[in-house]
Amino acid sequence: MIALSGIKGQERAVSVLSRAAARKRVAHAYLFEGIEGCGKKTTALAFAAGLFCGAPNPCGTCPSCRKMLKLQHPDLHMVEPDGQFIKIDQVRELQRELSYRPVEAPLKVAVIEAAERMNPAAGNALLKTLEEPPGNSVLILLSENAPGMLPTVLSRCQRLAFSPLPSEALQEILIDEGFEPEAARYAAVMAGGSLAKAREAVSEAGGARRRDLLEEVTAVSVREIASLFSLAEKLGKDRETATEALDLLKGLFRDILFLGRGVPEIVNDDLRPLLEREAERRSPEETAEILEFIIRGEQAVRRNVNPRLTMENLFLKLAH
Ligand SMILES: [Zn+2]
Repeated sequence: MIALSGIKGQERAVSVLSRAAARKRVAHAYLFEGIEGCGKKTTALAFAAGLFCGAPNPCGTCPSCRKMLKLQHPDLHMVEPDGQFIKIDQVRELQRELSYRPVEAPLKVAVIEAAERMNPAAGNALLKTLEEPPGNSVLILLSENAPGMLPTVLSRCQRLAFSPLPSEALQEILIDEGFEPEAARYAAVMAGGSLAKAREAVSEAGGARRRDLLEEVTAVSVREIASLFSLAEKLGKDRETATEALDLLKGLFRDILFLGRGVPEIVNDDLRPLLEREAERRSPEETAEILEFIIRGEQAVRRNVNPRLTMENLFLKLAH
């Protein structure tokens, strides 16, 4: 579970919120302003989890934290646009919820996403809540475009600016999420400070890598033995490269086997047409044999068998 202390790249906002929580001087309404994907919602949820758990860093294990992990805490209220706008009925519903006492936490937290998309009626309705905040509640408005909001709403919120995330922070987050460091670095630089964009870029890059690998590997042929050996040399240049390639190939051929056996649920869904084509090219038995070969190759490389030789054996098998 992410705690405020685990939020990367938003030190100023995080320190304001941590201090407020520690001194038990939490404002009635906050406005988090910043571009899409810079951590506004994650920060809001981390802040709420801490307030509910009663520790600045939520423990992650108590009943309250477990409910927050599933976003099913009865004192957490999330509002997001219904279609294009946040409508007055949604604000009224929220106001009704906030008028009750908290169910189990010391207070209620409402997170309003894309707050600039409140239509004027909704904004005016919310204004009433901001003017006379119900006791024991905190409103957190998130916005990518605060200037588009009613000035009267803005003036009643404590505003916290969220900066675009520095690429180092993005890279760290992506690596923590298990992406390849090289792909993470590239995606982080291209993302313009948005984690959402960085995630998109890194999985696209991952998709391209898997596609290229599958196309290269399935194109090998005994008729072009020279290119077969040069591919083995490239993918078997060291243990790390070979292990990564074999791991990707294992996932790809497992999917091909599934499709060949008529099982539609596959992992590499983005490459489905390509995988279906491969599934039609050989029988499930042949695919199973190749998969077995890949798995044995992976074990061999781990046992220090020459990775280039392992790749050559695999490709000779594939080419037949
Ligand atoms: Zn807890």
